[in-house]
Amino acid sequence: MKDLAQVARTAAVIGSGFGGLALAIRLQSAGVATTLFEARDKPGGRAYVYRDAGFTFDAGPTVITDPDCLEQLWALSGRRMADDVDLIPVDPFYRLCWEDGTRFDYCADQAGIDAQIDAISPGDVAGYRRLLAYSEDLYREGYEKLGTVPFQSFWSMAKVAPTLMRLDSHRSVYAKVSEFIRDEKLRQAFSFHTLLVGGNPFSTSSIYALIHALERKGRVWFARGGTGSLVAAMVRLFEDLGGTLRLNAPVDRIATAGTRATGVVVDGVFLPFDEIASNADIVHTYRRLLRGTARGAAKTRSLERKSYSMSLFVVYFGLAAEHPDLAHHMVLFGPRYRALLADIFGAAHLSEDFSLYLHAPSVTDPSMAPRGHSAFYALSPVPHLGTAEIDWDEVGPLYRDRILAYLEARHIPGLRRDLVTVRHFTPFDFRDELNAHLGSAFSIEPLLTQSAWFRPHNRDDVIENLYVVGAGTHPGAGIPGVVGSAKATAGLMLDGVVA
Ligand SMILES: Cc1cc2nc3c(=O)[nH]c(=O)nc-3n(C[C@H](O)[C@H](O)[C@H](O)COP(=O)(O)OP(=O)(O)OC[C@H]3O[C@@H](n4cnc5c(N)ncnc54)[C@H](O)[C@@H]3O)c2cc1C
Repeated sequence: MKDLAQVARTAAVIGSGFGGLALAIRLQSAGVATTLFEARDKPGGRAYVYRDAGFTFDAGPTVITDPDCLEQLWALSGRRMADDVDLIPVDPFYRLCWEDGTRFDYCADQAGIDAQIDAISPGDVAGYRRLLAYSEDLYREGYEKLGTVPFQSFWSMAKVAPTLMRLDSHRSVYAKVSEFIRDEKLRQAFSFHTLLVGGNPFSTSSIYALIHALERKGRVWFARGGTGSLVAAMVRLFEDLGGTLRLNAPVDRIATAGTRATGVVVDGVFLPFDEIASNADIVHTYRRLLRGTARGAAKTRSLERKSYSMSLFVVYFGLAAEHPDLAHHMVLFGPRYRALLADIFGAAHLSEDFSLYLHAPSVTDPSMAPRGHSAFYALSPVPHLGTAEIDWDEVGPLYRDRILAYLEARHIPGLRRDLVTVRHFTPFDFRDELNAHLGSAFSIEPLLTQSAWFRPHNRDDVIENLYVVGAGTHPGAGIPGVVGSAKATAGLMLDGVVA
């Protein structure tokens, strides 16, 4: 008979977003027999892929920063990411455009950045240098030291409090940037990044100004074939290691007995596991998957009191024309900044104006569209469903048309004439397709009072073999964030034995 210690431990991971996939790879690499359950027909979560009329549309993440955090997943089994994924450098990282015609190419070359700051506001070059040094300090303290550490106890938070105080983390990103930079456009250029992780620059802790240093160090990359090809490579790695991915397999319930999770229920069938980790939306995990349990009810109540990041409205479209004059990543600032953000995070209505992120991957990778064509998406941050009760079924098509008309008038002449395919994704879809609480695009808002120990802990405080991973837990949203959360969660699941 087999010795009990030799029987492989088993784990279920619920949800195949970047966090779930990274955790599943870490567990499987450590010899834990891991099954990844995904509700949808394709893996990737927010990094889903649409293929229409020969175009490839990445649904979500497109800016790959800190490739090292991904590389580590391959290194666990002595492999190289470069053998499976071709990362192409993107430069400029972003092109920022304002309605008065001002343009700022936020590029890899430091001298190029300095020269552009000098052209817009000569007095701000020295201040920018100080901002960069501050951001590098934040990066070392907030990302390198704390980004993959689970904050399970209040003591772990108390230990870092002096550092957080020294770094002025109680102030907002915008307030800190303004301390260094006087020009309003440059303040926008160096503060909008919090939106990439679901935070309002006017209320998100200045710790998140580390994103600037993260991008300077790790650069900005695009996976050839789209982010979906990176997801596919992660799935191949997981399966090569012996892991099992089950698609179209929504977990209906996490079964518990006392303070232990015993398994998951899928399609009415109970499947036992030694350990369970949920990468599904954090509120969905506690409210729906743990329904009927005291722990589920108590945690749901505390989660419902938290504030959630905004939602997004995304239009994916393919054109029978090429636009090589565009940059791969463009941020198109509308007429208002602070007031628009106040609307997105607090108003009960949809604003008349918008700011957009425009993704034009064909500029870097022609394989995203048929020859002579080009693929795009435009994304507009909008209030989540708890902030504004908008009927997106009715408003969605009208909002889509307004965005397309704006892009045609200012950046993509002939857009509607050349339109081959178009689809959109609304806050209703975040809620219904991804089980996202209030249709939030990035889960719990990255406020200081909702970060680190104040975020849901990577291991549940009551159910000892239940874990969470992904945007709703520490450190938070964004690919580096959720891949970091997978490292923190794997560290707990593997008793600290993480390569
Ligand atoms: C439009 C958009 C653009 C973005 N751009 C960038 C970017 O450029 N760079 C960047 O770094 N980040 C970006 N982000 C943020 C980043 O994509 C997310 O923070 C990150 O991908 C979230 O990963 P996650 O691990 O939390 O899981 P998610 O992607 O949220 O996946 C969770 C998965 O769980 C599944 N699930 C839910 N319920 C169940 C259930 N009951 N049973 C089984 N499965 C279930 C869902 O179907 C989903 O697949 C973007 C986000 C969006 C929405």
